[in-house]
Amino acid sequence: MRISEGLHSQDEIPKGCSVLVVGAGMSGLSTALELSERGVRDIVVVDPGPFTGFEHRSRTPNTVLPDTPPWWRSASPHYAELPGVTGPLGGRSRCWHGVLLPINPRVLAQHWPKDTADLLLAEVPGSYRAVTQELLEWQSTSGDLRPDRTPDDPREELRAIWPELSLQPVPQAGWSVDGPDGRLVWAYSPLMAWAGCGLARHSGLDLPRVVSGPRAVRVLVEAGSVRGVVLATPDRGVREVSADVVVLAAGTLENTRLYAQALAEEGDIVTRWPGLNDHVTHGYAIPLPRALAERWTRSDHRFLWSDHEDDLNANLFMEVHAAGLAEPVLDLWWMAQQEEPFRDEIRFDPSGHAPSRETTVWAGQVEASFSAADEEAIRRRDEITGKLLEALDVDATAEGRFVDFDPAAKAALATGTANHYVSRLGTADHEAGTVPLGKRLGFGGRSPSVGNLFVTGPATFPAAGAANPSLTILALATHTAEAVTGH
Ligand SMILES: Cc1cc2nc3c(=O)[nH]c(=O)nc-3n(C[C@H](O)[C@H](O)[C@H](O)COP(=O)(O)OP(=O)(O)OC[C@H]3O[C@@H](n4cnc5c(N)ncnc54)[C@H](O)[C@@H]3O)c2cc1C
Repeated sequence: MRISEGLHSQDEIPKGCSVLVVGAGMSGLSTALELSERGVRDIVVVDPGPFTGFEHRSRTPNTVLPDTPPWWRSASPHYAELPGVTGPLGGRSRCWHGVLLPINPRVLAQHWPKDTADLLLAEVPGSYRAVTQELLEWQSTSGDLRPDRTPDDPREELRAIWPELSLQPVPQAGWSVDGPDGRLVWAYSPLMAWAGCGLARHSGLDLPRVVSGPRAVRVLVEAGSVRGVVLATPDRGVREVSADVVVLAAGTLENTRLYAQALAEEGDIVTRWPGLNDHVTHGYAIPLPRALAERWTRSDHRFLWSDHEDDLNANLFMEVHAAGLAEPVLDLWWMAQQEEPFRDEIRFDPSGHAPSRETTVWAGQVEASFSAADEEAIRRRDEITGKLLEALDVDATAEGRFVDFDPAAKAALATGTANHYVSRLGTADHEAGTVPLGKRLGFGGRSPSVGNLFVTGPATFPAAGAANPSLTILALATHTAEAVTGH
């Protein structure tokens, strides 16, 4: 693949630019592309992550980078990996699974500002429909990576044992392929625009400049408006970049810190940021006969889902894994909304920090735990999936608290026994909700108190529902670009 001129190293940090986007993940790169399409020039995207290529990976790309900002968590098993704080250029768009689900219209109507909800549900650029259609078109034109398929449909066999379950193929901006080491998911990343294989409308676009290496330390604010950003470089240097507009797209944790510090520059010290939520993921890895598993993995229906959002705040997924495993498994899991009211939060303790020292970084703390209502909802949903195990006549291991699903671990499963797992918060990589639209931000993530400062990405979700976040992240990138440019 051709690496475009648009990717730069830390040596090429400019002194100033028109729009500085902080974070080159799904939200930051998409917002930068949307801005470029609207005719904005001199856009710079900065990210501490190293450029490690364009190809997709299946696992969370947590890499320990030097000088990671100070984050710690409460005495709980949750948020151990600090999602989004470290990773390669492209962030989690380099490893997501491409699942495209919209937030439930009931959740949008109850919790989201009407202008944003109306746009998401319309048929215009920046709507769910437009983004989904474009990604599915991208998928069909990138079809040379697609494995051979068979018309097999496992739903027929599943219907015989679980008649009331209605399953559909998962809408995906990508697809699963089996390699010698196991299953790999290829999915869209906005970074692909720089390799000449992104969305059709991005070919020939004047691509924004992406600088790999520097980390944004703080936003510079003067007379109520952004003036630029202070960057820490990997050689332990500090650089100031002036910018007319700053867009924060650094994942929920770092977006919250950078936004809190920007408000503090204006004298508004907010130390507690409630509303943090991730999806609760729990399920069973069920051993399957190899012949059946291999037939299903070759079919168009290896990855299925069923909507239970209205009754259980959750979607049910099932996917077959056979490659690289001693025992093929059916992974059957719930992806659920944390039960409201959310008690989790991000806290900062700015005491002892001189507010305007050039390299001041507030230490952040993540407080997260399952509530009694979450525990009860997990139990209720497990009871339902337990029915399938009964019908299949499969025993399950005792409830495995906080055992994340790892296909490699399935090799160790005794044949005939399903592995029960509940994942820790922070491992779904769907953390959201601390800087919500309508409460802390205006349309497109515009800050009401710091001029020309915008926040985008899942931190801005007023409520996440049960849907995976990226379809909404991509749609909101369009809204942010619209809010920045006014068109
Ligand atoms: C294995 C896996 C599978 C997934 N599958 C799905 C799926 O199928 N469907 C779905 O909807 N979602 C899925 N997700 C979640 C989805 O990938 C993320 O929600 C989404 O990519 C987040 O995008 P983002 O831009 O907000 O954050 P990120 O992608 O994390 O990007 C943030 C970027 O900001 C950078 N950054 C952090 N701090 C700073 C700073 N101070 N200065 C400058 N830059 C900074 C980081 O290095 C990073 O590159 C999956 C996630 C994982 C890990």
